[in-house]
Amino acid sequence: MAPQVIDHKGGVWSIAVPIPDNPLGHTLVHLLETDRGPVLVDTGWDDPDSWDALTAGITACGFAPADIHGVVITHHHPDHHGLSAAVRETSGAWIAMHAADAALIRRARAARPGQWLDYLLVKLTAAGAPDDHLEPLRAARAARAARRGRKAPARRAALPDRGIEPGALLDLPGRRIRAIWTPGHTPGHVCLHLEEAHPAQQDARPATFGRLFSGDHLLPGITPHIGLYEDPDDVAPDLHDRGDPLGDYLDSLERIARLAPAEVLPAHQHAFPDAAGRVRELIAHHEDRLSDLRTLLREPRTAWQLAAAMQWNRPWGQIPAASRNIAVSEAEAHLRHLVKRGHVEPVSGSDPVHYLAI
Ligand SMILES: [Zn+2]
Ligand SMILES: [Zn+2]
Repeated sequence: MAPQVIDHKGGVWSIAVPIPDNPLGHTLVHLLETDRGPVLVDTGWDDPDSWDALTAGITACGFAPADIHGVVITHHHPDHHGLSAAVRETSGAWIAMHAADAALIRRARAARPGQWLDYLLVKLTAAGAPDDHLEPLRAARAARAARRGRKAPARRAALPDRGIEPGALLDLPGRRIRAIWTPGHTPGHVCLHLEEAHPAQQDARPATFGRLFSGDHLLPGITPHIGLYEDPDDVAPDLHDRGDPLGDYLDSLERIARLAPAEVLPAHQHAFPDAAGRVRELIAHHEDRLSDLRTLLREPRTAWQLAAAMQWNRPWGQIPAASRNIAVSEAEAHLRHLVKRGHVEPVSGSDPVHYLAI
C-alpha cells in the first residue's frame, strides 16, 4: 500500500502510521527537516505493519530511516512512543520527552508483574465497583499468579535520552520550535510550537503565528481522555491530596489558545486552522459535563455510580469492562476537580466514598 504522506510545506510532513485494531485508525507522525537531518515528532504503535508504514513514509518524504537525527515525543502513550526504540536502533537518534512522562515509563519498567491488576482492584473497590465487575479482575490476578515466571515479558517502552524543558526552544539546528507543557491527558504532555511563518500566510503581521504540533492535547473531532495520571504505587483512595488532571488540562487549553497558532497539526485525524475555536469547544464541553455532574450529585453517589449515570457514546450496559475502567477514571477526574473547586464534597464516614454537591 502506498504510504499516506502529506507535505505540509516548509519542511514539514505527516505520515499516517496505523494503530492495529483501534477505531482511531492511525497516528500522524510528523517529520521535520533540520540542518542535522530529519526529526520525528512521535513514532507510532509498535507493530510490524506500523513500522513498515513509518519507514515507507520517511522514504516518501525523501529521507532514509537511518537518517533520523532525533525523536521528540509529545507523551508516553504507545500510539506515540511505541516505535521510538526501533527508530533509535535503526538510526542512533536521540529521544526527547518531558520528565513527568519519562517518570511514568521508568515506573512501569520497574513494576512487578501483576502490580497493575492489584492497583485496579484496590482503586475500583474504593470507587464502589460492583462484584460482577471485580470478579473477572480477581480471576485474572489468580491466573497470572499461577503462571508466574512462565510468560515472556512484553517489549518495554524506551527510556528517553533527553528531557524537554517547558518554554524552552528545542535544540534543532535551522528550526525554531518551542516546547509548551500541556499536562492533562498525561502529566508530561507537550505541544510544540513551530515559531516560523506559516508557508501559506502572506500577511506581514498576522493575528496567528506558526504551527502547533498538538499531540493528543488538541484534536479536531475527539475529546482526549482525561484520567487520573494513574500511579499503581499510589493506592490511597483519597481524592484531596493528589493532582487535578482536569484542572491541568483546562489550564493547558487556555495556554494553547493564547499562542494562537495559524494551524494545528494533531497526532490523530487531520490538520485544522482554528485552535482558539477548538479550545472554546473543549472547555465548553467540560464545563457542561461538570454542571451535569453537580446535578447528578444532588444525591450521594460513588465514583462508579456517577460514571454509570454519566453520558457516554453508548449506554453504560453496552460499555465493555475495560472501557468502564477508563470511564470511571474520567468520572473521578471530574469529581476531583469539583472537589478542588469546592462544588462537591465526600460524605464523611461513607464506604465506599460517596460524593454530594454542596
Ligand atoms: Zn494519548
Ligand atoms: Zn494518541
